[in-house]
Amino acid sequence: MKKCILILLLGLFTATAGAQDISDQDALEFLEANVNINSGTMNFDGVRRVGENYMQAYSDLGFDTEWVNQDHVNRAGHFFAEQMGESGKKILLIGHLDTVFEDDSPFQTYEVLDETTAKGPGVNDMKAGNVMILYALKALKEAGAIPNAQIIVALTGDEEDAGHPVSESRKHLVEAAERSDVGLGFETASGFSYATVARRASYSWKLEVTGKQAHSSGIFSDNTGAGSIYEASRILNRFYEDLREENLTYNAGVMIGGNEVTYDEENMRGSVSGKTNIVPKTTTVHGGIRFLTMEQGERAFEKMKAIAGESLPQTSSELTIYEGGYPPMEPTSGNMELLGTLDELSRDMGLGEVEAFDPAKRGAADISFVADYVDGLDGLGAMGSGAHGPNETIDLDTYKELTKRAALLIYRIVNSE
Ligand SMILES: [Zn+2]
Repeated sequence: MKKCILILLLGLFTATAGAQDISDQDALEFLEANVNINSGTMNFDGVRRVGENYMQAYSDLGFDTEWVNQDHVNRAGHFFAEQMGESGKKILLIGHLDTVFEDDSPFQTYEVLDETTAKGPGVNDMKAGNVMILYALKALKEAGAIPNAQIIVALTGDEEDAGHPVSESRKHLVEAAERSDVGLGFETASGFSYATVARRASYSWKLEVTGKQAHSSGIFSDNTGAGSIYEASRILNRFYEDLREENLTYNAGVMIGGNEVTYDEENMRGSVSGKTNIVPKTTTVHGGIRFLTMEQGERAFEKMKAIAGESLPQTSSELTIYEGGYPPMEPTSGNMELLGTLDELSRDMGLGEVEAFDPAKRGAADISFVADYVDGLDGLGAMGSGAHGPNETIDLDTYKELTKRAALLIYRIVNSE
């Protein structure tokens, strides 16, 4: 039975070259139309207009659609579409409408460079991924392959710069995940041979060091101590030397130290004054940390706190770890099973095997927010290059094959044990 529909679907995509061209053409025209609407995260009107295109497309497919307003977190909103159903695994398909290119960016239009490449803002991250989700579902609907399956499509409007707090801006995504079994993310693909089973968490931290303000002639004495700048330097050097391990990185982004310091945390800027002959009172360091599992993160936080606590004479430190960043997508056995399904499918299609992509090489993404609720796989979107830069491209050749593979993957997962 499964084999039968697989052949039927493959047939749908490949047998009638004419029909296939029309659907490819449709998909690429839809992609071009969406890329040509600026949807930088803070261009709310543009994000909504891209959302409206999907509203229309998914209504035509017979899905229920919804626009979720996000005024309260100062973002455009999210698009959701759903086919209700009870049979098989329940699937959540994740994309995002926004791009990093705002209204004032010089990069605004879709341009076909040659037979296999097109260029455009957000074409690869991830407007093509969104179109892949739509066209994969179209093919499945036309083949009658997923008649009674629950499928939710979530296209967030602020993935590149999520509204705060994330407990609000990711609330609907998490709710969709709570009633799904599997989450598939269509962020940029790293070739046919890799998929993402894990993404590192991204948190931030702040170190506030206080020293004793005094005449510099007394520095290093029992009474005056080291001052806040030496102490902050000691702590950072120990972080650099002692914390290193695989999949863990931590960056000191801003450091500001002297006698009088003001620091604007939200905008990461400040002012400082001091004198060469005053032992400095205040030093603030603000940084980020990425880790693969909560266990790894918590272990690192403990070490950081212990290092900060070994204060030099006449200094004290406070280290704050800010939660509410991107949580980790841990490499669970459920995720590895999904990778196995994709690997088998890929080999059946003659596309070769699929391995897990190194999580240290990927940033955080929306799928991380649902990792606690569903088995997940990401990096299923389009291939291309230069995401977030002025030469962002999509590979049009592999695009068709990846869309086909996505459709078949959805089909196999819905029908898996
Ligand atoms: Zn993205």
